[in-house]
Amino acid sequence: MLHGAAAGPHILAAMDKSAYRTPLPISDPALPLRARKRTKILATLGPACDDPGTVRAMLEAGVNAVRLNMSHGGHADQLRRLKLVRELSREMDRPVAILADLQGPKIRTGKLKDGQPVELVPGAKLVITTDPCPEGTAQRVGTTYAGLSKDLKPGDTILIDDGKMRLRVEDVVGADITTTVEVGGLLKNSKGLNLPGANVSAQALSEKDREDLAWAIENGVDFIALSFVRAARDVRHVKSRIAEAGRSVPVIAKIERPEALSNIDGILAEADGIMVARGDLGIEVSIERLPVVQKELILRANRLGKLVITATQMLESMIEGEMPSRAEATDIANAVFDGTGAVMLSGETATGKHPVQAVAAMSSILLEAEKSRYLPVIEPDPEAQTFSRSVMSLTGAAHRISVEIGADAIILSSRTPEPALLLSKRRGRVPMVAICTEERQWHAYCLYWGIAAVLVEPATDLQALLETGIDSAIAHGFVRDGQQAVVLTHYDDRSVAGIKLQRI
Ligand code: PGA
Ligand code: MN
Repeated sequence: MLHGAAAGPHILAAMDKSAYRTPLPISDPALPLRARKRTKILATLGPACDDPGTVRAMLEAGVNAVRLNMSHGGHADQLRRLKLVRELSREMDRPVAILADLQGPKIRTGKLKDGQPVELVPGAKLVITTDPCPEGTAQRVGTTYAGLSKDLKPGDTILIDDGKMRLRVEDVVGADITTTVEVGGLLKNSKGLNLPGANVSAQALSEKDREDLAWAIENGVDFIALSFVRAARDVRHVKSRIAEAGRSVPVIAKIERPEALSNIDGILAEADGIMVARGDLGIEVSIERLPVVQKELILRANRLGKLVITATQMLESMIEGEMPSRAEATDIANAVFDGTGAVMLSGETATGKHPVQAVAAMSSILLEAEKSRYLPVIEPDPEAQTFSRSVMSLTGAAHRISVEIGADAIILSSRTPEPALLLSKRRGRVPMVAICTEERQWHAYCLYWGIAAVLVEPATDLQALLETGIDSAIAHGFVRDGQQAVVLTHYDDRSVAGIKLQRI
């Protein structure tokens, strides 16, 4: 249960006095941005950044991963963006993860007569119907979700258009839901509906989601995100479809429904990571609970060794303006202090006026936050079933050694993502370089806090692999000759696991 501030471990309790470590020497200012900025930036692509020059500038300004929002734009648009990003990644010799975000059971109102907005007046009655209603009016409007009348009961609240309008359900008869307008406003075509109190029984994947998922798998995206996850079974459903296609793609569960908070432990066990999807979450669980819920979600994801992305309105004012607001700068830094691994930009890059400036502003706020003494100490839960004890103790040891001897870098080689993930949770202050021989792994690390990855040709023996990996790390400016590195190797299949110190 995550309902209420009292439930579960509180992040502040976990940060006792000893947790405020003295600042270590911060990462070398000569390092390239990619190794210096540790918190990853996930930027949504859209019409505002369709120009190749803009995407390139965004990558140079600090974007690590891009989101294709399947709710907007058709497959042709998304394919063009995907190809562009892959091309730039190759050209710039740097990884960029591509995340396809499935719309999930997002409920909308229907179309209005002549597409004209109608005024909802407080106190008036409005019928929402699951029957066909192609010409909606201020008295009667359709919905995209056929199960709506079955999921609602008298007394329930319906929110429209990001919570701008509020209806109260009076009566449900057959397909018709009769409501009273409590907070009015201008209702436009196809606006989002939020049902904070109801149990939405819609399938995890709509017809459109199934098509989008097939498209995403076929085109080799690096992550799939699922919106409006309610329980572990929604995640399992997506995973089994991916497995049926003979693939393995990590799944990010977007936490934006009240049920997801109640079922968070199961969801975390099943998913590869979560997104704190503050947009819909802020409507569905109420805005004042959002800061504590964000802390709880990040804490739990970190303790279970899962990825975590904090999303929505992080630089909202920069959709128009050229400078972040004070509140936004503080919010981004606080997400880092909460322990988020990545932060997301939505409209700021997809439709905003200053996509590149927004990324640059976000990067500089992250860099300052990361220099501070307020990075959280994250201790993965030793009881967690989601990772192995051997990897947990190896990564913990590599981190401790690097701190105690003042190493310049940690270099990591493993076929599975677990060591990089658990190492990343330790929030070390030196570059953590993961040597990859597969493009998929190279891209996937783009959402791991603090991991900079290099891609090299596979080698038959581990020593040769480490040598080419270190050469590549030098070429990218992540490490220099004469520096000292902690080298961590973990190959379960070859029964190889070890830590050594190496002068570069
Ligand atoms: P969305 O998800 O932008 O796809 O709605 C993020 C959120 O709700 O915060
Ligand atoms: Mn959402």
